[in-house]
Amino acid sequence: MPRSALPQNYQIHDPIWTEGFEDLSSWTKGGDAEGIAEADTENFKEGSQSLVMRPVTDWPGVTFTKTVDLDLSSLASFTYWIYTPEATYGSLEIDFSPDANVARKMSIAESLHTSGFEPRGKWIRKIFSKSDFTVVGNTRWDDHIIRVFIRLVGGSVPRPQPNIDGFRADARFIPKCVVMFDDTHDTDYTVAFPYMSARNIPGTCYLNSDNVGAPGRCTLSQIQTMYDAGWAICGHTASHTTIAGLPLDEQEYYISTTQDYLEQHGLTRCKDYFTYPNNSADDVSFQACANRGIVCARAGGNALTGLPVDNKYYLPSYAVQHNTTVSTVIAWINKAIATGHSIFLFFHSIVENPPTYQCDPAVFRGVIDYLYNMRPLIKCVTIDEWYNGLTNPRYRSLPMR
Ligand SMILES: [Zn+2]
Repeated sequence: MPRSALPQNYQIHDPIWTEGFEDLSSWTKGGDAEGIAEADTENFKEGSQSLVMRPVTDWPGVTFTKTVDLDLSSLASFTYWIYTPEATYGSLEIDFSPDANVARKMSIAESLHTSGFEPRGKWIRKIFSKSDFTVVGNTRWDDHIIRVFIRLVGGSVPRPQPNIDGFRADARFIPKCVVMFDDTHDTDYTVAFPYMSARNIPGTCYLNSDNVGAPGRCTLSQIQTMYDAGWAICGHTASHTTIAGLPLDEQEYYISTTQDYLEQHGLTRCKDYFTYPNNSADDVSFQACANRGIVCARAGGNALTGLPVDNKYYLPSYAVQHNTTVSTVIAWINKAIATGHSIFLFFHSIVENPPTYQCDPAVFRGVIDYLYNMRPLIKCVTIDEWYNGLTNPRYRSLPMR
């Protein structure tokens, strides 16, 4: 097969249906009479406009519906973009129905107040698998879909006013997982490195260079050993200073501290990959990353990393910490597999009776065991393999590993 024919961007096939809200003439507004469902040409994610909805009642809220002609029987994933300016009550329901009156439906309904809609004031991508939908009435995905129906329930005052954009049904991608370790804890080397190496799962470490060699932290020679084995050693600022909110030149300075450290110690392969201290970034941070030549930067958000990549300086991730169970992480991994998106898991130290943010060894082993068992369905890679694989699937962090 010629190299150019390899799948790019991890995409297996295009979406089977999209709705960009570029033309609302075939949509019909219902629900409360004064509510709004209209185009917003100021704030949009794709194309030149989005849909903004503003109810004036709690129930029925605002509805917006359109006649379609869809076969979703093979649906694996459904994604959309949403922008919620503030944390308000109310919920968003999206239905696919075989009935003109939407009596029977495949439905997702979520409260806008939940953490799944953080951060506020930024566009976020919501990713659903088929099993996230509730089937209402005697219907099934094999039934022909003739209506798409959106209902924004108004909640309490102030009413929600989200922008919605870019519905995509079933864009398919190759699932990937990156296992990450923040803050240079010595358990990266003493616990994670041997356990993962035995299972051929590589790790990605985000280093605070001021911590190297400190009690409970990795030594330089331990870091070197992991690097030589193909692990990604990346930057997290020397001092773990939160950069969001700082002026541009200061943000650039803090980003540069670990770039310089990694360069000076010959750990150059991933010196331009970065994670924000406390997962905290603002628009200035994105400019600082660009100015410093950062390849991609991770944040938090407890979400899958959807494809195609939207903002390479704001890649979401899941924290695996003191109160996280193995079954919770398995559900996240299963969703990445089911929807074909990427999942970034990050750990801090791995210790018995873990304090806040740290992870129990049994949970760590349970997560790695599951990834190992699921290796035919989801491949674990380093962050540089993940990023370079978007355009060059044959990239390997170390050749012939
Ligand atoms: Zn950190």
